[in-house]
Amino acid sequence: MEEKIELEKLEDVDVTFGEHAFAPESMFCDKCDLEMKKTSKYMTVSEDVKVNLDTFKCPKCKEEMIGLDEARKLDRALVINRLLQKNLFTFKRRLSFDGDNYIFRLPSELAKGKHKEVEILPLESNEALIRW
Ligand SMILES: [Zn+2]
Repeated sequence: MEEKIELEKLEDVDVTFGEHAFAPESMFCDKCDLEMKKTSKYMTVSEDVKVNLDTFKCPKCKEEMIGLDEARKLDRALVINRLLQKNLFTFKRRLSFDGDNYIFRLPSELAKGKHKEVEILPLESNEALIRW
């Protein structure tokens, strides 16, 4: 019984990405070779995070696809959802200012001393995910 509930939940994110398209105007179903219908889908990632996606749906087999732009949007929603989880490990660093830039220090025990750069994924104007 429990497994069934899990499957229903997963069905919400059962979408395939269009291979060559960022924001496609139309898409065709791989299986049926029919033009897919443009539609939008309000997807609930969690109680706090919901995302509206432009999707394409096959009128015959009901297969759904999204373009890369929408895939990014979904990706972002998943990241934000993770950040909102209450027991996520976070830490604060003090910002210093050199006249042009704000600088913060990454503790060496985290970076293990071998990293030369960090990757910053902006989420909002004042929020970002930092990866090293
Ligand atoms: Zn189809």
